[in-house]
Parts: sequence; structure tokens; C-alpha cells
Amino acid sequence: MKIVMLGAPGAGKGTQAKMIAAKYQVPHISSGDIFRTNIKNGTELGKKAKEYIDQGLLVPDELTVDLVIDRVSWDDCKNGYILDGFPRTIPQAEALDAALKKSASGLENGTKATLDFAINVDVPDENIVTRMSGRRACLGCGATYHIIYNPSKKGDICEVCGESLVLRDDDKPETVQKRLSVYHDQTQPLIDYYTSQGILKTVDGTQDMNDVFAAIVKILEA
Ligand code: ADP
Ligand code: AMP
Repeated sequence: MKIVMLGAPGAGKGTQAKMIAAKYQVPHISSGDIFRTNIKNGTELGKKAKEYIDQGLLVPDELTVDLVIDRVSWDDCKNGYILDGFPRTIPQAEALDAALKKSASGLENGTKATLDFAINVDVPDENIVTRMSGRRACLGCGATYHIIYNPSKKGDICEVCGESLVLRDDDKPETVQKRLSVYHDQTQPLIDYYTSQGILKTVDGTQDMNDVFAAIVKILEA
């Protein structure tokens, strides 16, 4: 099962991707988490990516595409994966399609050269700022909480790994506005891209997170 999660920043892609990954035992691959790990570890990639992320801009395709395409070629992706935050531009989507085609060629018949679903978690812009100003992130393990809708049982500490939770710099309201406009300009066109491939499914992301998950499971198991 190869799935792409689409939606505005803060729509709940990561929250749902983690739930899907746990239920179906496939890896959850978040390009944002990969960048944040690089930033935390002070790598060259992290330093370059941070310049864009802090301004609410997309990291250029040249720094993003090979990184994610390489990740989906790992052994743990043989039975599928959930991509969260990638693709975010049409060239990224085209590069992913080309990589899928290449990896399927030469394999036995029946190996799919396409994604199975693009799940669009639909949340209007009005709800996004509240979602993101209340988000608390663990930079240790990538877990995500919300101070009202999904608080950590340990307050400011991650339930999973015990690290302190933070408000991401790019979740501050002024950066969120920029990220939303970048989303509308560069990422929303992917909705048409995957609609034309016949794999786009939209869920109402304003529902409680368990109800969003139930709607996604219904789609995946239809
Ligand atoms: P994305 O990965 O799309 O940027 P997240 O999954 O990190 O978004 O969710 C953004 C914030 O909203 C997080 O704080 C998360 O806990 C919260 N959240 C996610 N889904 C819901 C929901 N259905 N209802 C309310 N809050 C949600
Ligand atoms: P996310 O964790 O998905 O919200 O991503 C955080 C930030 O990382 C984004 O605002 C972008 O600056 C950058 N980023 C993550 N994924 C991508 C991508 N596929 N293409 C470009 N930039 C990305």
C-alpha cells in the first residue's frame, strides 16, 4: 500500500499518517521530520534547509527529491509506505512517479508502478492557525501533540521518548500565514494532478482525529 498524504500545513497529515502506519505496519516517511533531524544534528543539509523552513518557504526540489526517493527505496518500503509532506510540488510528484515506474520495471508482473491513494485531509484556512499555534512537537521522535485536542499526558514532555516538547519556530502565526500561501500556490495543484490519476480521496479533516481516521480506513478498505 503506497499512500501520499495531502493537505495544508497543520491539516493533520502527520497525525493520520502515524495512525495508518501503526495499523497497516508500513513506514511513515515525513520529509519535514527528515529535515528537522538534519537541523538538530547540524548537518550541511540541515543548515541549508533551515534557511527556507524558518521563512515558511519550501526547501528547493534539488535538496528534497533525491532524499525522499532514496528513502522509499529502502528495504522496509517493500510492502508500501505513507508519504507525509512529500510531494509538495508538481516536479516532486513527477519525480516520484518516474521513480515508481523505474523500480517496477524488471520486476515480476503485478508489481504496481503507481501510488494506491492520495489522501487529501481537507481543513479550511480559518482552522489552521489554531491547529498550528497549539501544536507541540517532539524533535526527538517526531511525535506530535496539541495543547487542547491531543495533549501529552506528561505535560510538556513527550509520552513516547521523554524529550521536552516545543512550539516549532515555523508554527508561529506570522510564518503559518506564509506557509498557507505557499501551500495554495505550490502544493494545492497536486489535488488536480492526483484527481487526473484517479487516486485522490478527500476526507473532512475538521472532524475529531479518530473520525478522520475511520473515514480513511473506510477508503483504504473499500
Ligand atoms: P500536518 O502534519 O498536516 O502539518 P499535524 O498532524 O501535525 O499536521 O496536526 C497539526 C496539529 O493539529 C497538531 O497539533 C495535531 O495534534 C492537531 N490535530 C491533528 N488532527 C486533528 C483533528 N482532527 N482535530 C483537532 N486537532 C488535530
Ligand atoms: P512539515 O513537517 O511537513 O510541516 O514540513 C516543515 C517544512 O519543511 C515545510 O514548511 C518546508 O519548508 C519543508 N519541507 C518539508 N517537506 C518538503 C517538501 N516535500 N518540499 C519542500 N519543502 C519541504
